[in-house]
Amino acid sequence: MYMAETAAAGTVDGTASTDGRIECAYCGRRFAERELLALHRGVEHAEELDEREREAFDAAYGDEEEELRHFRLKALLALMALYFLLLFAYSVFG
Ligand SMILES: [Zn+2]
Repeated sequence: MYMAETAAAGTVDGTASTDGRIECAYCGRRFAERELLALHRGVEHAEELDEREREAFDAAYGDEEEELRHFRLKALLALMALYFLLLFAYSVFG
């Protein structure tokens, strides 16, 4: 029982290779982070996923969306700052 669970976990999490990267159990592509592997599985192997892999993908996808939202917000703020900086520079030196 314990052995079977270990083998199953190895399939779900991918196989850690010698350079510390995690290998996809379906196609052998390697990823630096577990979360990236989960995203890859959800996109490339969507039909083959079991319940746990699907949950891992949903969790990773949610995190990714959150990070993307933060990035877009920061990018927007940076653009606005640049805009006002240029406007200011134009009004002073222009
Ligand atoms: Zn793959």
